[in-house]
Amino acid sequence: MRLGKALKKSVKMQLQTSWIGATLARLSLLLAALIVAPLLPAAEQISSVRVWNAPDNTRVVFDLTGPVTHQLFTLNAPDRVVIDIPNAEKTRALDLVDFKGGPLVNVRSAAQANGDLRVVLDLDRRLNPKSFLLKPSDQYGHRLVIDLEQVGAKAGTAARPQAPAAAPVSQPKSYSTAKSYSTMGSGRDIVVAIDAGHGGEDPGAIGPSGTREKDIVLQISRRIYNVLKVEQGIKPVLIRTGDYFVPLATRREMARRKYNADLFVSVHADAFDNHRARGASVFALSRRGATSTLARVLAEKENQSDAIGGVQINNADEMVTSVIYDLAMEGSMEHSIKVGSMVLREMGGVTHLHKKQLEQAGFAVLKSPDIPSILVETGFISNPTEERNLKSQDHQVKLSRAIGRGIIAYFDQHPPPGTYFAARKQQRDAQQHRIARGETLSEIAQRYRVDLAALMQYNQLTTTDLIREGQVLRIPHS
Ligand SMILES: [Zn+2]
Repeated sequence: MRLGKALKKSVKMQLQTSWIGATLARLSLLLAALIVAPLLPAAEQISSVRVWNAPDNTRVVFDLTGPVTHQLFTLNAPDRVVIDIPNAEKTRALDLVDFKGGPLVNVRSAAQANGDLRVVLDLDRRLNPKSFLLKPSDQYGHRLVIDLEQVGAKAGTAARPQAPAAAPVSQPKSYSTAKSYSTMGSGRDIVVAIDAGHGGEDPGAIGPSGTREKDIVLQISRRIYNVLKVEQGIKPVLIRTGDYFVPLATRREMARRKYNADLFVSVHADAFDNHRARGASVFALSRRGATSTLARVLAEKENQSDAIGGVQINNADEMVTSVIYDLAMEGSMEHSIKVGSMVLREMGGVTHLHKKQLEQAGFAVLKSPDIPSILVETGFISNPTEERNLKSQDHQVKLSRAIGRGIIAYFDQHPPPGTYFAARKQQRDAQQHRIARGETLSEIAQRYRVDLAALMQYNQLTTTDLIREGQVLRIPHS
């Protein structure tokens, strides 16, 4: 009790002294502002610096206390990028930049005689710098972004080896029906693009205990990759491989141009205002409004990704509009709904579902005209129980296996022409037998080297004499 009283008293005193201190500080600030204000506009400060290394570019982001102008130029031997910011102050944030693991060797800064702040990025190679300012958005204030791109590379779609003209994968999907395939075991791999949402500047949703969506979905995406990797006839690719941001349009473009993907799966774990909201959902694109309020809200949230992650205005996503485009879109949307429903069904076996049906809304990342595309919300990171689940290795494994099973089941039924899966299905479908006059079940069983009982069971026959001429039997795998 005595201790409690003493503690209370000391807290009270601290509160008083800190109140007096704060008031004094405020007064002196006011005084300083009164004296300085007429002479100089307040200098802006760089409050923090973040560096994101992507495979083909490095992004350096300066958080600013207000809008600034800047000038940028490069120098070589050694390679460096110089940024001059008028009327800005040097802060400690510039001395504490964590830049390891990329082309950045050092970040230096110094006040210039003319009042500019000069920031120098020392590089270990020549890079193409691009810079732009971002207005406040979501958790961020004003930002100055410097993108350092590989020389000769275009962000996100770089370094694609030119496939030889004969390679089937270089054909656009819509024209691939003419490709020839013959025997079982041949046929190209089906390419599944796995897109871990958010990344880098864009943390995505944040759970009650601080879990970031961008980290969870990258872990789950890697697990889905591993599940699909061992499946013969499927080649998974990861759109994002680390902690960096990829613009929404670039994600789609990478799936199409860089990887020639047959399917695009975007992986998320979003938040909702209501912390009790729970369950996984799967979404396809809708071109006519959303199927529910939640679907609309989530699509709006996901579509903010570019503003938070940082996309230069002139790179704004432009959609082509043409009849061919519309037709292709309808076709791929029909398949998006099919694959999405199958993935959702499998997920229902391992986790609570938010809704039993696939939902639709205007997600920008799903707007590929010719690639079936789905967005999987693996759960609500805003729900404390689901946040815990999403972090657990066990749950991640269950989820990724279920998503993998749904994808494989879909391609089993709807294999793109020319693929190993298509050849396998052809083989499977070909195993049918039309009964000729006088044939007996045991003769047929012998001919296909299958067990008579198995053949009967497979065709739901109870006695051997219940067959007739012209009847088609399905032959089980021997
Ligand atoms: Zn998300």
